[in-house]
Amino acid sequence: MAAFREASPDQAELLEALVEAGLLVPSGVPGVYGRGSDFEDVRQRFDAYVTRAAAAAGERPEVLRFPPVLPRRQIEDLGYLENFPHLAGAVFAFEGTEAQARAMAETAGRHEDWSAHQCMTDLVLTPAVCYPVYPAIARRGALPAGGVTIDPGASYAFRHEPSGDPARLQMFHMRELVRIAEPETVQTWRDGWRDRALALLVDLGLDASFDVASDPFFGRSGRMMAASQREQALKFEILVPIAAPEPTAVASFNYHQDHFSGLYGITTADGGTAHTACLGFGHERIVLALLHTHGLDVAAWPPEVRTLLWGAEA
Ligand code: AMP
Ligand code: ZN
Repeated sequence: MAAFREASPDQAELLEALVEAGLLVPSGVPGVYGRGSDFEDVRQRFDAYVTRAAAAAGERPEVLRFPPVLPRRQIEDLGYLENFPHLAGAVFAFEGTEAQARAMAETAGRHEDWSAHQCMTDLVLTPAVCYPVYPAIARRGALPAGGVTIDPGASYAFRHEPSGDPARLQMFHMRELVRIAEPETVQTWRDGWRDRALALLVDLGLDASFDVASDPFFGRSGRMMAASQREQALKFEILVPIAAPEPTAVASFNYHQDHFSGLYGITTADGGTAHTACLGFGHERIVLALLHTHGLDVAAWPPEVRTLLWGAEA
């Protein structure tokens, strides 16, 4: 069993208030919630706000959309199970006889463990929205001059980290943008978006700041991976206070160097190895930060914040 992280008193109080206000709908499983209309409205408005910011910065990202499942082959090749075995979720399904189906249903009817009746499928739940982008671009052959910028949208990502903290979900929306190009182009893009995203969040009245960060690599060797990632400043996060104690990472900016392009064989127009970077806004965390900062009554938010998200409708 994955360790369940208990909520802090502030996190438990925020969750209760969100449920009471109809902003979140509990499912009975920690970290899995439905969303009420105000929550969903703000989430979608924020997504559009990011899309407008990209256009205002002169970007014309190519839109690609993928379902929230990946071929399991992909996380096997990427070393995800070495780095993040604790977060992965695989899809299993039944392939047996009628008698076996009856046995499975009976076990399940008693709410006992029915996993012995299940087989592994070719799918896992997507842990990061950019993962399907890299093989898709590799399939096209060498990059055009200047590389590509891809908008894989705000799709669901799964991470098996059950928690009582409403900001730590098992299934959540991650809005990504991906840049694949020459190393310098990619780094400049990543840093430009880090600064742009910070301004976008500060403009929404959030007490946001960025810092060097690392991914939650597993185990003792994972601690070394995390230290090296920090040393090379490969990952930045924007942090905003939600419920105490610590500020929460609401967006991340990742420079993968040739991790994905080497594996999939993505080359630049002149035959060099491309590098990749991505950014991810954690939608639910940003909505929670806004609700925590401006109050649970969305209609009563400061007019300047409402104008940025709702435009003329504010
Ligand atoms: P990462 O790929 O871990 O950098 O995640 C991208 C963004 O998704 C983070 O900056 C968070 O805002 C958000 N995120 C990551 N894990 C969770 C989670 N368990 N619950 C909610 N949002 C998350
Ligand atoms: Zn990504």
